[in-house]
Amino acid sequence: MPLIVANWKMHKTRAEAAAYGAELSGLIGDGIPGRELVLAPTFTALAEARDARGRWALASQNVAAESEGAFTGEVSAKQVADAGCRYAIVGHSERRRIFAEDGPTLARKLARCREASLTPIYCLGETAEERDASLTASTLVRQVDTLDGDPPDLPLVVAYEPIWAIGTGRAATPADAEAARAHLASLLSARRSVRILYGGSVTPENAAALARTGMDGFLVGGASLSAAAFAAIARA
Ligand code: PEP
Repeated sequence: MPLIVANWKMHKTRAEAAAYGAELSGLIGDGIPGRELVLAPTFTALAEARDARGRWALASQNVAAESEGAFTGEVSAKQVADAGCRYAIVGHSERRRIFAEDGPTLARKLARCREASLTPIYCLGETAEERDASLTASTLVRQVDTLDGDPPDLPLVVAYEPIWAIGTGRAATPADAEAARAHLASLLSARRSVRILYGGSVTPENAAALARTGMDGFLVGGASLSAAAFAAIARA
């Protein structure tokens, strides 16, 4: 089932999240057949973003690398599961780059997700410099290595998000997305269940062409802040 995830990043108050939920509800009626929708709000808006009818699930945008304890400001995987999340985004490039999260840290976060029965949405992708140096394939290998300790029989979502495409308005071409998808599919072929998403400047206008690359869905940032755009991408 294609999975369409809205990553709101650090946007929306509780009232805005509730208004978005009401608008999305009106736009999708009983749900979009054949699509799984997920909203990833900030922690504070999880309750307001929840759909009592279950037409979309919730993801946290991050989890702590530790289970519990004296880690002021952190939020644990167990806590976000308790708040209604089915998924957790791990390794978003903004966390890797701005908050210096490296492979070992992300491996610990993945383990915390599994302990809390959250399905990770593990993000990876190359920088513009890596792409220009023809290092896309080796970057993906290194980032997939972080999944070594993750149980291969549990469902996993991987989001291929080339960093040069995130928030730039310059999405990957369908050919680039398809090449990355094929590479990731072969790297992850030993896993029982994996969905590979594309993320990076997805819009209602380019979603249909990107969907034809064989991707199992999208991780959407900027465009997902509009319920109408998110619903249009999900239908594409
Ligand atoms: C993201 O942040 O995961 C993302 C894909 O952002 P955008 O859609 O804005 O490029």
